[in-house]
Amino acid sequence: MTDRPNTELIEETRRLAAEADRVVVKAGTNSLTDEESNLDDEKLDKLVDDIMDLRERGKEVMLVSSGAIGAGKGRVDQPAETVEDMQAASTVGQSHLMRRYTESFERYDQKIAQILLTQEDLVDTDRFSNFRNSLETLLEWGVVPIINENDAIAIEEIKIGDNDMISSSVAVGVDADLLVTLTDVGGVYTGNPKEDPGAEKIEAVGENYAEVQQIVQHSSTAEFGGIRTKVQGAREANEHGIPAIIAESTEPDVLKKIASGTAVGTLFLPVNGKTSETVGETDE
Ligand code: GLU
Repeated sequence: MTDRPNTELIEETRRLAAEADRVVVKAGTNSLTDEESNLDDEKLDKLVDDIMDLRERGKEVMLVSSGAIGAGKGRVDQPAETVEDMQAASTVGQSHLMRRYTESFERYDQKIAQILLTQEDLVDTDRFSNFRNSLETLLEWGVVPIINENDAIAIEEIKIGDNDMISSSVAVGVDADLLVTLTDVGGVYTGNPKEDPGAEKIEAVGENYAEVQQIVQHSSTAEFGGIRTKVQGAREANEHGIPAIIAESTEPDVLKKIASGTAVGTLFLPVNGKTSETVGETDE
């Protein structure tokens, strides 16, 4: 088990997460599709219910949603195995995914928007500024933007965990107050919980980051959405002062719990916010 960050810091970060006004939620393919690579309506509706718990508290929410390739594979009549096949399948899955999101959010009369981007858009200053302006306008309008990588035209090959990095770039770029990464495990563990029943959940990541990084390097599998890139994405947000949480998408009322300060998943403490040295000190 790794050293646990200071309790006061954990509580302070949990409070910051609960009070976040602007939240980026990232949902992975496994949180949206079933074993046969079909979009799972129940999973999608639950995610939407969870997001609406935040909207109903007046928070701004952006969703970074994977699942285009996953949902597309189940809808095309041939096996999609090569990168080219997967790129094509993503276009089938993406439109289906958005249809289902539209229907599901309509249960709450909530409008949504789709933004597809590539890594290049995140590093090109003009493109990124256009992206950020569009997001700001949508948030002002009370719309929930749903972001995914534009897999069909992404110049680099489709890579595992791209959306983990996109979600942290979005969180940093729009000055979000919190990044929540929803996945099919309950957080970050001391081993791979799917293979090692003795693996223990790590409650919080702060000063113990180097140790946690070592652990996830060993426990990651090559499967879509390994924990390593999620930890990297969360830490990237932390380095810009943004708290992050990696939690299980199937946890009941997962986002509501976070918004009420309940401990769920693994909490990532902002690096350039309060440190263990400053906690307890009084402001000058
Ligand atoms: N853009 C991919 C998809 O929607 C997912 C990539 C990722 O999960 O990082 O299927």
